[in-house]
Amino acid sequence: MPPHLGSITGAEIRAAGEGLGKGVFAIDDLPKGTIIIRESSNMKIKLDALNNSWEFCKAYHALSEKQAWQLNNLHCDSSKLADRLLLIAEYERWCLDRTPGVPEDRREFMTWVRHLVKAHAIYLTNCAITPDEHAAVFNKFCRINHSCVPNTHWFITEKRGKYILEVKANRDISFGEQIFVSYISPMEKLPERRRALDNWGFTCNCALCHAQASGDRRLADVVWHYQKSIDNGTDFRYYTPWNRPYSQGE
Ligand SMILES: [Zn+2]
Repeated sequence: MPPHLGSITGAEIRAAGEGLGKGVFAIDDLPKGTIIIRESSNMKIKLDALNNSWEFCKAYHALSEKQAWQLNNLHCDSSKLADRLLLIAEYERWCLDRTPGVPEDRREFMTWVRHLVKAHAIYLTNCAITPDEHAAVFNKFCRINHSCVPNTHWFITEKRGKYILEVKANRDISFGEQIFVSYISPMEKLPERRRALDNWGFTCNCALCHAQASGDRRLADVVWHYQKSIDNGTDFRYYTPWNRPYSQGE
């Protein structure tokens, strides 16, 4: 598998509907256990250096043209930047000091700086935590939308210094169904899940959220126990930097 490519089996990335961005949809019946996505990471940074402009620049400039293009085509949420103006100032200084071929024209230069800041925001919007405390971007994985009752689980393993992410069907999935992962722990209560999902700027309306929000406790119990039985004994990850328990208070 080339370093920045991956495979997607029995599913495709396409528009999820008006105003909903892209999603991943089954184009075949996918039995439980099917590996739908298998891919290596595009770029990675140590978790404690997520907002560090120098670390980001090093990682960004190590990307091939195609990898940078893939990153720049992902969704961007500028609110993920801790301090945009500070970063612009840092990038400005960093570019002047260390980068060969800096555009001499001031306007061109600032366009370049803003491009770097936006790429940093895209990275922060889409990264997921690896088992060894890095945050890595996986191009196909980050197109999958969220549900608190997901039909897949995701895992990251490390092989020869590279991270491999797999998305695996946790039940039979029918042709045409949208593929979902959970960005958070579905075992949290509704208010906690909603607070965590604020980081992605949407309100989930999955079967569990719908049942709990409408006060249908019987249905909510059925959905919750169903999901728990699927998750039981499965070693998968929910964490991105935006839902990690310790990151919320820091
Ligand atoms: Zn939900």
